[in-house]
Amino acid sequence: MVVRISNRFTFFIAKGEKVMTYQTIYPYTGKQMYAYPNATDQEVNQALDTAHALYQKWRNETVASRKPQLLAIATLMKDRRQQLSEKIVYDMGKLLTEAQAEVDLCVRIVEYYAKNAEKMLQPVELQVPMGKAKYVKQATGIIMAVEPWNFPLYQIVRVFAPNYMVGNPMLLKDASICPTSAQAFADLVLEAGAPKGALTNLFIDYDQVARIIADDRVAGVCLTGSERGGASVAQEAGKNLKKATLELGGNDAFIVLADADWNLLRKVAPAARLDNAGQVCTSSKRFIVPAEQKAEFIELMQTAFSKLKMGNPMNPETTLAPLSSKAAQQKLQQQVDLAVQHGARLVMGGHAVTGQGFFFEPTILTDITPDNPIFDQELFGPVAMIYAVDSEDEAIKLANNSKFGLGGTVFSQNLEHAQQVASRIETGMTFINSGWDSIPEIPFGGVKHSGFGRELGMQGLDAFVNEHLIYIKD
Ligand code: NAP
Repeated sequence: MVVRISNRFTFFIAKGEKVMTYQTIYPYTGKQMYAYPNATDQEVNQALDTAHALYQKWRNETVASRKPQLLAIATLMKDRRQQLSEKIVYDMGKLLTEAQAEVDLCVRIVEYYAKNAEKMLQPVELQVPMGKAKYVKQATGIIMAVEPWNFPLYQIVRVFAPNYMVGNPMLLKDASICPTSAQAFADLVLEAGAPKGALTNLFIDYDQVARIIADDRVAGVCLTGSERGGASVAQEAGKNLKKATLELGGNDAFIVLADADWNLLRKVAPAARLDNAGQVCTSSKRFIVPAEQKAEFIELMQTAFSKLKMGNPMNPETTLAPLSSKAAQQKLQQQVDLAVQHGARLVMGGHAVTGQGFFFEPTILTDITPDNPIFDQELFGPVAMIYAVDSEDEAIKLANNSKFGLGGTVFSQNLEHAQQVASRIETGMTFINSGWDSIPEIPFGGVKHSGFGRELGMQGLDAFVNEHLIYIKD
């Protein structure tokens, strides 16, 4: 029998054999370290039953009653910082230092919601001409979370922590290439004292995800991932009238205005592209600079890119990690080749590294015209695209010439003016004089093909609440 489980795996299995599509293949060695059997439909049903029972129990409990468990989760994450970080590295290959920073950020997110959710979920009084009106924020039911591999812990935590406080139990389908860190976090949640069903990690296929979304006990679905994955899951949500939030890809512009502080630029611009080996939805992917400063900017980036040291992600001296998988490395190679075939100029790099690990050379492309097929594609890796423009208006027009609308940067010493420019960019987030960032207090999300809805901050907490109106007529 042939089974197509996901975008990455097609399996030939004998009758009765267990499918194991969830595998940790260490991107530094290319070797499989762990494999996990897929969940059966019976296990999925059991998970739904347990989560629904918890939802009903939570409906009779206060938000405050969940706070100690969430704080205990944060404490255990701090204790397990090293183990969790190593699991992230084995799953998708990022630098150990980046994985540690990811765990630290997750602790802050968990603590933020534990400490603030009670206040944030207070009833909201409304001004009405007669009578009294307010809405109370209530849980809605089980949430299906479908998450990607590029931040194996952070992507889960930023939806789990707020929904835990709201009282929405969560079923998780994580990327098939990072099962070990997902399972480690789900185990940690239970070990910290959270009730069974609060977060259930499931090694399931796309059809099982669709069946879960269709289940009446499931109130909504959140997905972070590609346009393709987002469209499929949103279709299932639409068909079943379920609320959905989508956090999808980006082609973020980094606009350098004529009065930019170049000392700061030198520190910020290369990292904005290279963190996480360039595999961030909000990585700065298109650098837009005044034409007269193009050569100087290329030199700035080239100098930084040339200093990168590829190697063992566990070694603190390594500064460029491998890509997450062989497939990711091959896809990026195809995209760079396509760009060059259609007239882009390769300033440096441009090739997958042969030998051990799924590395890709730090790469700079220029002279990409709008008719180049990669003009509006997301390049997920250490590849910077540099554009020159003759005016600020042209820079804004170019930044907006994208189907994506996730984030972006404006670099200028005039903060007032930078904010005006930011307000003309059609994205969900703009960072002034810095690369992308994520902290618990600020909402994260995009417009256009980058998705809809927001995670983190108040918006992340409200994403799956029922704003239940209570009106007393005079
Ligand atoms: P992906 O292929 O869409 O996968 C993301 C998740 O969706 C995985 O768990 C995947 O499972 C699952 N999935 C895909 N198609 C599905 C379907 N039809 N039904 C059910 N589940 C499905 O995305 P990716 O390439 O791994 O992730 C990178 C993308 O995520 C990039 O585009 C990046 O920009 C974006 N991203 C966005 C944000 C944001 O906040 N906006 C943050 C991080 C990443 P399998 O692994 O089993 O295929």
